[in-house]
Amino acid sequence: VADVILDQPDVAPLLSVVVPVKNEEQGILPFVARVGAILDEIAPTEGWEILFVDDGSADATLAAIVAAHQRDPRVRAISLSRNFGKEAALSAGLDHARGSAVIPMDVDMQDPPEVLPEMVAKWRDGVEMVFGVRRCRDSDPLPKRLTASLYYRAHNWVSQDKIPENAGDFRLMDRKVVDVIRALPERNRFMKGLFAWAGFRQAAVEYDRAERE
Ligand code: UDP
Ligand code: MG
Repeated sequence: VADVILDQPDVAPLLSVVVPVKNEEQGILPFVARVGAILDEIAPTEGWEILFVDDGSADATLAAIVAAHQRDPRVRAISLSRNFGKEAALSAGLDHARGSAVIPMDVDMQDPPEVLPEMVAKWRDGVEMVFGVRRCRDSDPLPKRLTASLYYRAHNWVSQDKIPENAGDFRLMDRKVVDVIRALPERNRFMKGLFAWAGFRQAAVEYDRAERE
């Protein structure tokens, strides 16, 4: 991490949404507007934060985040010194998220925030990892669907830690899970594999993955 650019408020929030971003200047403000409104409904008093991880953007992504923070200090960010890729950016985000539950999301609205209330409800019922599962992959081009399917089958054939098919990084993790993942020594990380390895009480919520905005 090169920089923690925005001050931390004193009190840790209930929910942290962690959002790796690379060259997404157009996406920041719409994301904050739409996701922030839903977080306000879920946690009006307990608080939330949206923690962007600027993954070496070359455009005005960081400026857009600063503008969003000036409007609403619950928007925070860390800034990486160069592009490290989404897995590393997400890892850095988990290190700096302060919520009792942490939710990685993509900024392009492919992870629908309308699912968040259901995720949080399951967590409040005691589930420690609520992972999103895609109902269908029709929005993906055929080659991506084929390679993804082959990949997960091959992975689950050789590995004891099965990755649920059609589950991505979009999920809610209890603080306990986040701390276990953070304690791992792996540096070159495949987050979905580490999530599967971690265990804990798990449940799925289904969603339809939207087109990239
Ligand atoms: N992203 C990132 N670093 C990268 C590439 C992507 O942080 O090197 C972010 C990107 O800005 C987005 C998320 O990771 O918020 C998912 O990226 P994308 O939508 O391109 O991936 P896909 O939908 O194909 O999984
Ligand atoms: Mg996407």
